[in-house]
Amino acid sequence: MRLEYVFFHLNLKHKFGISGNTRTQTPVVYVKINYQGADGYGEASLPPYLGVTQEDVKIFLDKIDVSVLKNHWNNSEAQHCYLDSLQEGCSAAKAAVDIALFDLWGKLNNTPLYTAWKVNAGAMPTTAMTIGIDTPEIIRKKIEEAVDFKCLKIKLGSDNDKQIIETIRAVSNKPIYVDANQGWKSKEEALEIIFYLKEQGCVLIEQPLKKELLADTTWLSERSPLPLFADESFQRLADLDAVAGCFSGVNIKLMKCTGLFEARKIIEEAGKKNLKILMGCMNESSCAIMAAAQIAPLCDYVDLDGPWLINNNPFNTPLLHEGKITLSPNAGLGIGLIEPIFNR
Ligand code: MG
Repeated sequence: MRLEYVFFHLNLKHKFGISGNTRTQTPVVYVKINYQGADGYGEASLPPYLGVTQEDVKIFLDKIDVSVLKNHWNNSEAQHCYLDSLQEGCSAAKAAVDIALFDLWGKLNNTPLYTAWKVNAGAMPTTAMTIGIDTPEIIRKKIEEAVDFKCLKIKLGSDNDKQIIETIRAVSNKPIYVDANQGWKSKEEALEIIFYLKEQGCVLIEQPLKKELLADTTWLSERSPLPLFADESFQRLADLDAVAGCFSGVNIKLMKCTGLFEARKIIEEAGKKNLKILMGCMNESSCAIMAAAQIAPLCDYVDLDGPWLINNNPFNTPLLHEGKITLSPNAGLGIGLIEPIFNR
């Protein structure tokens, strides 16, 4: 078994604006694991606000003894525990290895992962397309580009939220997922705007308040006419108890929770706690997106728009049908590398 990695930068089609920062590129690290003649691919996405660099990922990857992963072949829990034991944090790097191992496992067993996991591909929810904070003119252009998507996701949390919604409603009546990215200053301010957003056809709210304000979020949840989802307040399985009484649901991202092994556990446990699930993503190419898509039919809402926000995806772009990502019948993640990024 051999593990390789390569640094890469995803180029964003539009300057990406959320509450707090804007940027034009996202660093990623791709992992390739070769075993028994097959290659499995994984991806670590590293938005700068998380403070983890490509060098940090390299340091983590260099600690891995692949013979341990090989010895635990067919035991994804043991592989997960080994990777998790190497270092605190660095969850995106762990996710990259987790994704590559599952892709490889699927290829060597000649099965798509969703089939191996008995996930009903027909239950795939529509995926939202993110429209970042921008000028009215650019927002209108982004909505035109999102013609194939049945719902939109909007980043709010600045002082012109109503203006942004009005701009969108002037050109589109699609359902809107709102991500406040902790931007609203108080629970009272949040409640007022949420009532307005409900009237405007918004369907859910992600992270209305600062991540540590769980008591205020509980107050808001009790009064909010829309379900509230934890994103920044929720990283990994161990956080589930803390957010269960405060939010209606959680936003799972493979990059936060170390990959597919733990994401599947979260889906199982969240169901027991009556929490709804939004499957989300960072700026990711088809590799990490199609990993998340394998289990997206188990979720209530899907926000896996990464491949459509970039213009240098080294993997083939997923197919969309009626606003839903189509799972491939090909083994593993069902993706193909179209740029020789490992051979440069
Ligand atoms: Mg979010």
